[in-house]
Amino acid sequence: MAQVDPARSRIRDRKGGLELELALSQGVPYRIFTLQDPRRVVLDFREVDWSGVQAATLVRSDLVASAAMGGVRPGWSRLVLTLTAPLALQRAALTIDPESGAAVLRARFMRVGDAAFAAAAGAAPDPGWALPAATSGDSRAASSTSEAGVLRILLDPGHGGLDPGAMRDGVTESRLMLSYARTLREALVRAGAEVAMTREDDSFVSLERRVEMAHAMDADLFISLHADALAGGGARGTTVHTLSKTASDEASRKLAERHDRGDILAGVDLSHSDDVVADVLMDLARMETQPRSEALADAVVAALRSAGLPLNSRPRRAAGYSVLKAADIPSILIEVGFLSSDRDRANLVTPEFRARLAGAVRDAVLAWQLADEAEAPLRRQ
Ligand SMILES: [Zn+2]
Repeated sequence: MAQVDPARSRIRDRKGGLELELALSQGVPYRIFTLQDPRRVVLDFREVDWSGVQAATLVRSDLVASAAMGGVRPGWSRLVLTLTAPLALQRAALTIDPESGAAVLRARFMRVGDAAFAAAAGAAPDPGWALPAATSGDSRAASSTSEAGVLRILLDPGHGGLDPGAMRDGVTESRLMLSYARTLREALVRAGAEVAMTREDDSFVSLERRVEMAHAMDADLFISLHADALAGGGARGTTVHTLSKTASDEASRKLAERHDRGDILAGVDLSHSDDVVADVLMDLARMETQPRSEALADAVVAALRSAGLPLNSRPRRAAGYSVLKAADIPSILIEVGFLSSDRDRANLVTPEFRARLAGAVRDAVLAWQLADEAEAPLRRQ
């Protein structure tokens, strides 16, 4: 894996444009492209280790509003620069020192007009570089061999890779949710469920891809797991969220927005907006699914309460979470606690606490399944 040498790397203004110089311990394949809404420059690399690189010291330019870097999928890493002005790649070259094997990537970007930027924006359609594609309909058929009555659950540890989520006192949401998801998976599998996860390691998975995975495995349930931080205020305890067009409160609206921003920072192309017809069909499907999602969320709150686990004073919330938009699969998002709360953070880093929490969520899922099966004959097929 190539290491970035922060001391010899810089991104700065030069002659009215932007100049990038990255010193790497060895040469690696790379590509550079731009994205629209918001305007970004994306640099992908094979196997680059960004640890020790601080965005604030790397980037010294008014043309860059923010920078994010890190893993985007196993074996690939990414640097995303959010721009304050439209830029186009003028030239790029990777030179390798024949003696040491060390490499320097130099790239220059020039100012262009809005139309020129829009015309050039978009990831190159090279399958070798693409983010994992949507699984085709075939896998749905292949996976429909599950026994009747066996719940198929997709657990979604929030964030990952380039998008670490909340960070407080050395605790990172993406890593913490991965270990909690593993504990919850074990509890659910022991209870007879079939469980998959949207990610098995610290890699980035887009929100859209997470929803696609739920469809591909023909999931009965989708449970997204988070432990975000809220600035100010003393938010603490578990909250359980469902999808809603209007947010139940300002904090939930901001959480949903922040999760979408993670995708933008990670360089996901969000420029293809949903078409209107599809939206109407989705709304119809959601009319069936929504009460089942609400019932699951209520069951989680009830199970945590009866287990004596710390709940938020307003534990049931709703907002426009993109990851909950699978129209035909009951989906909830559990904020297991807030990393901004000292008490919650201390609880969540304890394996025993995570195990108790997993036990309560498992109980909720089993209780929900019983009630849901009883109501199934009443639902339209
Ligand atoms: Zn989160």
